[in-house]
Amino acid sequence: MNQPPLLGQRALVTGSSSGIGLAIAKALLEAGAEVWVHGLASPTEIDTLLHELRLIGPAHFVGGDLSDPDAIAAMIAACPPLDILVNNAGIQFTAPIGEMPASQWDRILAINLSAAFHTMRLTMPGMGHRGYGRVINIASVHGLVASVHKSPYVAAKHGLIGLTKVAALEYAPLGDRASGGITANCICPGWVETPLIEPQIAARAAAHDGDRVAGIKALLAEKQPSQRMSRPEDIAALVVFLCRPEAHNLTGAALPVDGAWTAQ
Ligand code: NAD
Repeated sequence: MNQPPLLGQRALVTGSSSGIGLAIAKALLEAGAEVWVHGLASPTEIDTLLHELRLIGPAHFVGGDLSDPDAIAAMIAACPPLDILVNNAGIQFTAPIGEMPASQWDRILAINLSAAFHTMRLTMPGMGHRGYGRVINIASVHGLVASVHKSPYVAAKHGLIGLTKVAALEYAPLGDRASGGITANCICPGWVETPLIEPQIAARAAAHDGDRVAGIKALLAEKQPSQRMSRPEDIAALVVFLCRPEAHNLTGAALPVDGAWTAQ
């Protein structure tokens, strides 16, 4: 029987208590990695989560509010040296610029952008010494193009792609083909069916007499030509590919998974 491709590797996935992060944690476990899951969750939710994940492989939980750099440092200190870092946690708030609360700007920038800088500054030097590392930042199509009413989200995701390119450049010379090298990439999803986009679905559904299916259709019709939402598992499969040895030269990229949204 073939050995799982990521056997022996240690991964942290931020924001993996739900949505895309949870699917990534499961996919990494299935690929043989030991995974530290993370998120804002109650003790009961953590128990349930770990019970489910340990049926797949070795899983642990670390907490930490990503809007707080000290909590991020404590979270990284609670993990072993990491081979794989997935910065996935993110939040959203929509309003026109003139009505965007300054507190939402600060919070979205802190969680969707600065948190990734902190986890990367604390883990990438170790990856450099060991000659292998994978940093995968879950950005968005909104790292590549804009939409109205999402000023902090679009700014943070564009920033995340820039940060990732700098990391890719700085670490490109380290390691070799045998060790796997150190890569840093962004995945840029279009619409993915998760709790994050529920308020946006609800707003469209409200305009269609509360019809959720019509709400989703309206959301997709605006921007995503495939007219299909991605599943969290679709994004997770790409994460696993990026961790594989064959992906040693795939670095500094911002990979859209968006049904041709950004091809327009
Ligand atoms: P989600 O709401 O299901 O999950 C977000 C996760 O982040 C949760 O685990 C939550 O606990 C964690 N989190 C939120 N605030 C936190 C904080 N302050 N400290 C620690 N953890 C915190 O969302 P999702 O849709 O799975 O989104 C995951 C990522 O994918 C985000 O970065 C999001 O911007 C991105 N994304 C999502 C979509 C989509 O359509 N769902 C599209 C493009 C990009």
